[in-house]
Amino acid sequence: MTKSEIEQWLREDDEERLALLWSRADGIRKERVGEEVHLRGLIEMSNHCARACGYCGLRAENRKIGRYRMSTEEVLACAKRAVLLGYGTVVIQAGEDDAITLEGMSDIIRSIKSSTSLAITLSLGERSEEEFRAWREAGADRYLLRFETSNRALFHHIHPPRRNQGPADRIEILHRLGAIGYEVGSGVLIGVPSQTYSDLAEDVCTFRELDLDMIGVGPYIPHPDTPLFAEVPDWGRAGPDQAHNTELMAYKMVALTRIACPDTNIPSTSALATLNKAQGRELGLMRGANVCMPNLTPVQYRAMYEIYPGKACINETAEQCSVCLAGRIHSIGRVVGKGRGDSANWHRRRDEAEG
Ligand code: SAH
Repeated sequence: MTKSEIEQWLREDDEERLALLWSRADGIRKERVGEEVHLRGLIEMSNHCARACGYCGLRAENRKIGRYRMSTEEVLACAKRAVLLGYGTVVIQAGEDDAITLEGMSDIIRSIKSSTSLAITLSLGERSEEEFRAWREAGADRYLLRFETSNRALFHHIHPPRRNQGPADRIEILHRLGAIGYEVGSGVLIGVPSQTYSDLAEDVCTFRELDLDMIGVGPYIPHPDTPLFAEVPDWGRAGPDQAHNTELMAYKMVALTRIACPDTNIPSTSALATLNKAQGRELGLMRGANVCMPNLTPVQYRAMYEIYPGKACINETAEQCSVCLAGRIHSIGRVVGKGRGDSANWHRRRDEAEG
């Protein structure tokens, strides 16, 4: 699919034609990654953040949220719960929190690895090369870092540099993570103010070029306590090129991503479930996605990890999330994945490297 074909699909509104897109994406999903839906237990370890991202409620300047950081014991308890619930992976996510140190995080990773057979995915923001290497050596398997948008000017506008640092280059970091041996995941926001359909089409082309193992795409959900909120257009009057942050646009991006990157693992994201609590997860899974990320964060912290408002599943316990998701997966005729659910793409790359 060329960039202009991708852009045409993003502008397509005819339901019958879109049904063709959904069925093509679902067919490729079935053929390439199968019927299993892999569950990744999400541990939101800390909401402290040193950055000032224009879109995210965890930004340092937001004084309206209470801050928390889980202890090592609390993280390990979440990992144990993941094992009991039958998950193959935990995703440890946080703001860019300098109190999460090279040594402290390495200890957590080693403890989980020595007591469970879980795969570990980290999503801790832009960290040093030394930290990336140490955490991989300690046993972390995967790293998630969304490049958020391939439009460089827009990225720097919504993702200003940290104090005393130059502008971030997340694409460069993704290459380094791959070279260190991680399974590499990335993704983008959909419908950021002044993001165009052409930008989104370029995002899908960038996914393909980066040969990613995991790709998460989700609607941008405006947070009132962030600067970007003031830029959100009156959608009815937005220009013809402004990409909309709708549920439909998110499904189109999931489907196009599956078609462009057939072997990659694609989650049906929580942001999508937030826009459509009744059916968002299922529709994502039926239009290209093959992964879900049930929340394992202790209930007392969940509401504080408010990257965007109205987040789905903030009052449920880990057990309730697990039962709910399994039910949703079965209701659409799919099965809950067993084992770690590694990326087929990563295995292929490693086999090629080993000759
Ligand atoms: N600090 C880590 C983890 C951030 S949260 C990092 O920067 O990588 C994970 C993802 O949530 C972000 O990459 C972003 O794409 C998404 N996110 C943040 N704010 C959002 C919002 N207002 N609406 C939708 N998604 C958002």
